[in-house]
Amino acid sequence: MLELFILLGLIISTVYFVLLPYVHERSHQDFNLSASTPQGRLLYQQANLRSMMEDLEFDFLTGKLDRTDHEALTEEHRNQQRDLDNQMKNLGGVSRIELVQQLEAEISLYQANSLKSALQVCPQCGYDRKANDKFCSNCGIKLS
Ligand SMILES: [Zn+2]
Repeated sequence: MLELFILLGLIISTVYFVLLPYVHERSHQDFNLSASTPQGRLLYQQANLRSMMEDLEFDFLTGKLDRTDHEALTEEHRNQQRDLDNQMKNLGGVSRIELVQQLEAEISLYQANSLKSALQVCPQCGYDRKANDKFCSNCGIKLS
């Protein structure tokens, strides 16, 4: 009976490790395929622009950028975004929606992660802390 379980486990893990790289490879190819279309390239540019805007927000929140620069750069990025949106509208296409959803999911994951690291606070007093702070600048406790 025990041998049967071991054998079963072996079969499952073999199937898993043999099939997984194949599945992974496939989804990778699909992505490359979509990136070689004009829509794919536009989506890539849009995603790039968004992450640039997020970086901008981050720099503004952390005080690396003053308000005037922040507003000017945001306006510039918004114009670029509008331009990309228009190009996308002209291209049309059904698969676009799928691609957008896929990218939205990736972007919101990225946002959640960057927000998590941007909004860290001291566990004792709740004061804002930066990711690499070793001690709280308000109450002085050691931060892990
Ligand atoms: Zn503190």
